[in-house]
Amino acid sequence: MQPFFPIRAEVSPVFSQFALHERLLKAVAELNFTEPTPVQLAAIPPALEGRDLRVTAQTGSGKTAAFLLPLLNRLLGDANAKQRTDVRSLILLPTRELAQQILKEVERFSQFTFLKSALVTGGEDFKEQAALLRRQPDLLIATPGRLMEHLNAGSLKLNGVEVLVLDEADRMLDMGFAEDIERITAECANRQQTLLFSATGGGKVLREMIAKVLREPVHLKLNSVDQLSETTVQQIITADDPGHKERLVHWLLTNETYRKAIVFTNTRAQADRLYGHMVAADYKVFVLHGEKDQKDRKLAIDRLKQGGTKVLVATDVAARGLDIEGLDLVINFDMPRSGDEYVHRIGRTGRAGEAGLAVSLICHNDWNLMSSIERYLKQRFERRVIKELKGSYQGPKNVKASGKAVGVKKKKTDKKDGAKKPAAKATPKRRPNAPKAAPSGLVSQDGLAPLKRKKPVE
Ligand code: AMP
Repeated sequence: MQPFFPIRAEVSPVFSQFALHERLLKAVAELNFTEPTPVQLAAIPPALEGRDLRVTAQTGSGKTAAFLLPLLNRLLGDANAKQRTDVRSLILLPTRELAQQILKEVERFSQFTFLKSALVTGGEDFKEQAALLRRQPDLLIATPGRLMEHLNAGSLKLNGVEVLVLDEADRMLDMGFAEDIERITAECANRQQTLLFSATGGGKVLREMIAKVLREPVHLKLNSVDQLSETTVQQIITADDPGHKERLVHWLLTNETYRKAIVFTNTRAQADRLYGHMVAADYKVFVLHGEKDQKDRKLAIDRLKQGGTKVLVATDVAARGLDIEGLDLVINFDMPRSGDEYVHRIGRTGRAGEAGLAVSLICHNDWNLMSSIERYLKQRFERRVIKELKGSYQGPKNVKASGKAVGVKKKKTDKKDGAKKPAAKATPKRRPNAPKAAPSGLVSQDGLAPLKRKKPVE
């Protein structure tokens, strides 16, 4: 296809195949984006044609540019735009961090244009936001809760919105924003295009929302989990207990070559414990979880982005959607509870084709979860042993065809071997021979008889 606008010499020949405004192509060239990513290749052409899109793609795939470039193109292309006083496009997304990230991308892509954008999220001054809204931004980036407050206060109207983007729609629904989204989409009654992005296929609620808000959408599924392995090496290391896991984290952070690392835990309490021990061991580290206030969260992310700190300990929700350049090591202190969550975590490395390493630390109570994630991803993680820290648990003695551990009868008394722990439904008593605490001071989960998985706190 012939390009619509003149091509500058330094513009990538592939990006220039899209009929994008020359100012956007100039920005793309300036950002050194040489080749569009698969999601950009698939989504930009139908979006430029004005189609509604439903895209399943994870963070790190380049999805932001996939919706921003067509959106900005529409805003630039309208000759009557100067007379417009309303907000013309809205990007609705789940978290402040993601909003700030998207604003940065907007600023980068619109650097050669006169388009104005504004951010409306919780945790910031309401009046200042209302003043920003009075300046009539072309593009508004918002989280649902705060946007609803502004709608209720009458500080903005959405009937001039031409394009609505729902980014990380699955996450917004998980966070309980279904009603707000419904009201907001209804307020954007005159929109001409809706672009919905989700990292996972989502469930019934997402499907219902899609049926309500999209018009004959093009459905693009780019959440190819196979792509993970192309740039990111995925390994497991078996561990005896949390104390052992902690020593493995120290070893990895000391011996691996990486620019930035993130250590994921399943609970806030575990994140805080690990953080405390790492601070005590003189690591420059930050912790990010749902209980941290906005200032702390911002500081943690900024420090990591700027390189003031190399390591972040985080829970899933807190780290969702984070795009941190140079993040090339992910450690799963706990195995995530689902394949999708694993994909989210690991998707933080190997972004835009860079190499990454993902290491999951596997106690006996992580094993079955790990093997079901292997099956979900249709791949086998590399088994790694760190000689200096080899523990007694090396995986279950016997595994089923599925890869899961062969169960142990409930009434069997406990042996020293970690694989022969009592079954999950046993009463929550401390075993007589259980260690009181892991050497690091962490309470050993292995010391407790029931191996029940904690409910997600985040
Ligand atoms: P996203 O999935 O939108 O969060 O993008 C992940 C990262 O990849 C961001 O830092 C983008 O700036 C970068 N990126 C997106 N598209 C490209 C591309 N075509 N070439 C190089 N980097 C890209």
